[in-house]
Amino acid sequence: MTSPKIVAVRGMNDLLPAQAPLWEAFEAEAVRVLRSYGYAQIRTPILEPTALFRRGLGEVTDIVEREMYSFVDALNGEALTMRPENTAGVVRAAIEHSLLYEGPCRLWYMGPMFRHERPQRGRYRQFYQAGAEALGLAGPDVDAEQILLLRRLWQALGLQDVRLELNSLGQPPERARHRADLIRYLEQHHERLDEDARRRLHSNPLRILDTKNPALQELVEAAPRLLDYLGEASLDHFERLQQLLRSAGVGFAVNPRLVRGLDYYNLTVFEWVTDRLGAQGTVCGGGRYDGLMELLGGKPAPACGFSIGMDRVVDLMRDNAGAAARADCEVYVLHQAGATFELALRAAERLRDAGLSVILHAGEASLKSQMKRADASGAAYAVIVGEREAAETAAAVKALRAADAVAEFAQQQTIALDLLAPSLAKLLRGERAGHAGLPSTAEGRLKQ
Ligand code: ATP
Ligand code: MG
Repeated sequence: MTSPKIVAVRGMNDLLPAQAPLWEAFEAEAVRVLRSYGYAQIRTPILEPTALFRRGLGEVTDIVEREMYSFVDALNGEALTMRPENTAGVVRAAIEHSLLYEGPCRLWYMGPMFRHERPQRGRYRQFYQAGAEALGLAGPDVDAEQILLLRRLWQALGLQDVRLELNSLGQPPERARHRADLIRYLEQHHERLDEDARRRLHSNPLRILDTKNPALQELVEAAPRLLDYLGEASLDHFERLQQLLRSAGVGFAVNPRLVRGLDYYNLTVFEWVTDRLGAQGTVCGGGRYDGLMELLGGKPAPACGFSIGMDRVVDLMRDNAGAAARADCEVYVLHQAGATFELALRAAERLRDAGLSVILHAGEASLKSQMKRADASGAAYAVIVGEREAAETAAAVKALRAADAVAEFAQQQTIALDLLAPSLAKLLRGERAGHAGLPSTAEGRLKQ
């Protein structure tokens, strides 16, 4: 009798090797672009005190009300939550370690986030975000710069049809005035509101403007607009941001109903959206959160950040890449066990010393069936250490793919072991010209 299978938690996906090259390509490009704007990495824990999110995100947000994986640690009674986002964690860490002591800092992070949502395409319970936070900078220059950074990233990833939507949420007093009028307006139309809107009417009415319910569109379209409540300073900030974007040639649309889900935003908010992913079309959200440092117990400091939904971006990249991308090894080493295996092991190590990726055949099999494996591995070259080759401390080399059949090894050819690694490294490096260096390795290996 076989034991029953254990499967993954719903909404939490395995990322299988076939998908890994796209993730690696995203990660490599993102790190490269973030660094080129002076952002440094920060890694914070996945578990944080529940109070961090309750206070940081706001009690009446979707996340805190019903999406958090929260539990009491049975060992010591601490109330903990698996991070649903990472701005609060980064700000907590910045305060805890006085990162702003010497001036503003630019930080980036990447990793898994957890929200108990209804799983569907582009919406998972464990998902991945890459984000950046500029702490101690009041903008709008840095707001514009983050948008340029993101435009550069989309370009580097070959994503064309993501567009930018922009809004300003003003400052808390402006929002309070707008909120009072908005509630009054919505109350006048109470009978037309859906259940969700009624629930939010007095807790988070701004979010009602964001509703996807078609029946409410006309109502929210005619609702008081937050933009009309902004004072001069807020309008100046917003106008200057738009000017900077225009002069940098960034296209955008002002969307007065763009509100974002979390309490901590003020002034600038933005989203990058695409029509290619169905309902979950937002690939990145960001904005300013000048009040969060103080709210979490730090010295007041302005800040601006964004977060990219990596699952959705990788989905777009997959569309672009067409056929599955694969992380191929470069060389497959065959042998006939015994002493030939020892020599093959030595050859494989030398190839790796030369920077190549190598699969050394494991176990015993005929050379013919090993050759099939070599072909299927996607490697560019097979290196065969048979008994005949071993007797001469040599190996046979054969190019496996037509395109790689550089004159030298189009036909199988024997080569002294000492010359093997330098020759193959030269051939393979030639092929990868322009992809030298660590960050672009993943991209260099993407087979379209
Ligand atoms: P949505 O309106 O789609 O729920 P959100 O406002 O909750 O998004 P943010 O908290 O701003 O999302 O997170 C930033 C980005 O992270 C989103 O734009 C999206 O790309 C991604 N994201 C958020 N929640 C999920 C999820 N459950 N699964 C996959 N990606 C997600
Ligand atoms: Mg959400």
